[in-house]
Amino acid sequence: MNQKFDVIVIGAGISGLSTAMHVKEENPDLSIVVLDKQHTYGQGNTGKSAAGYRDIFKTEVNRKLASSSIEFFKSIQKSKGFDIGMHSSGYLFLVRDQSPMDLMLNDLSRITKIESVDKDEIRDSLNISYDLDPEQSKLMNLQGYDKGYLGKNCGIIEPELVADYYYKECVRRGIQFNFGVTVSGLSLVPVNPLDYPGEPFIWQDKKIGSIGTNKGTYQADEYIMAADVYTTGLLDKTGIDGHERPKKRQVFQITNEKIRSMLTREIHTNEGIMPFTILPSHGVFLRPAPKFHSMWIGVADDLARDFSFSEDPQAEHDFYENSIYQILTAYSGNFENAELTGSWAGYYSYNTADMTPNIFREVNLTVISGTSGSGIMKGDAIGRVASAVYSGKDKVKLYNNIEFNVADVGVNHRNVKMEQLIL
Ligand SMILES: Cc1cc2nc3c(=O)[nH]c(=O)nc-3n(C[C@H](O)[C@H](O)[C@H](O)COP(=O)(O)OP(=O)(O)OC[C@H]3O[C@@H](n4cnc5c(N)ncnc54)[C@H](O)[C@@H]3O)c2cc1C
Repeated sequence: MNQKFDVIVIGAGISGLSTAMHVKEENPDLSIVVLDKQHTYGQGNTGKSAAGYRDIFKTEVNRKLASSSIEFFKSIQKSKGFDIGMHSSGYLFLVRDQSPMDLMLNDLSRITKIESVDKDEIRDSLNISYDLDPEQSKLMNLQGYDKGYLGKNCGIIEPELVADYYYKECVRRGIQFNFGVTVSGLSLVPVNPLDYPGEPFIWQDKKIGSIGTNKGTYQADEYIMAADVYTTGLLDKTGIDGHERPKKRQVFQITNEKIRSMLTREIHTNEGIMPFTILPSHGVFLRPAPKFHSMWIGVADDLARDFSFSEDPQAEHDFYENSIYQILTAYSGNFENAELTGSWAGYYSYNTADMTPNIFREVNLTVISGTSGSGIMKGDAIGRVASAVYSGKDKVKLYNNIEFNVADVGVNHRNVKMEQLIL
């Protein structure tokens, strides 16, 4: 079977969905199909996300991508009345005075909505200790904290509901979805074929001519790659670099009576939910999951976490018990004997060069990669920028009317410094 469209999008995660919607919005007459190997949308890393959101990033590029997406998500929830489980419950960093994190967040507090929170207030509210047992601290490289920084334009969201929103908007606009379609590769063909065997030759201009799948060949004028950690593997044979590498990331869902009570301890908000909290050591995060009466725990461990990749990654319970549980209980008795009620694992698609998404074009292919653990909170802007890249535009207006220079997140004229706030 040979199927022809104007545009084929590979991947129905938030990046592919948002891009498909924005491309169609700009070009209503195009026939667009979104292909995904899963049985439905949002089943890749989008469905495995911890889905915290924040506009607190070191680089302006990432602040723009996140803040405009957050504003768009708020508009979905408020004016469009589509529940995406968004709660502005804040993002709390616990830091030592004069530490690099203290200096960075203090700087950022001049340009983003961040306020300082007294350590006693944090301890009294969340029961997270700032004075740790010295022996255990020495052994485990743990630090106490002198204050908290609370990001106010931050919180939690439900990624499957965000995906649901985009999917429905895509369908309403006439975009076709073919699920259960696994793309095996992209074929390069000459732009002006001569019908000689062995084409394309080195001296011929080339383009993507078709893609092979388990359901036959698909053809389009334009292709959009939004396959996240599968991007590099799918592009390898074309000679196009995906500029991303996978790192396994795990989430552990825990609960007990004290944790359930902790979930409700709002700090400087009226949400009745504790903030997404980053402990002072090793980047362990506490993500309130009130819908499940639980807390989701995770960490972006780097050294000793290899770049290997498997189709069906599993959470490692010994990693939870030997590494994470020990850290949690050093900070708070609330975690003693917490019940582990669920766990899962996925991957961050890391752009190891600067921890910022790549959105670039090569022949008739637009590539989105390297969302670097923040693809949900930047998801709407990523779709708008990818749509502009697809159309060959230099600039795009993001949702909050901020002008964005698309080449900044491209490959050839990239203009991004290393993002230091990837967690
Ligand atoms: C544990 C964890 C915690 C995270 N926490 C956060 C967070 O707090 N905040 C945040 O903003 N981000 C977070 N992220 C990152 C976020 O989830 C990703 O950046 C985002 O989901 C990427 O979306 P995507 O659409 O690019 O990729 P995906 O959602 O993975 O979508 C790619 C799609 O491509 C499909 N596909 C792949 N290969 C093929 C093929 N060969 N043929 C057909 N289809 C194919 C897949 O099935 C998949 O549906 C987290 C990620 C993980 C794993």
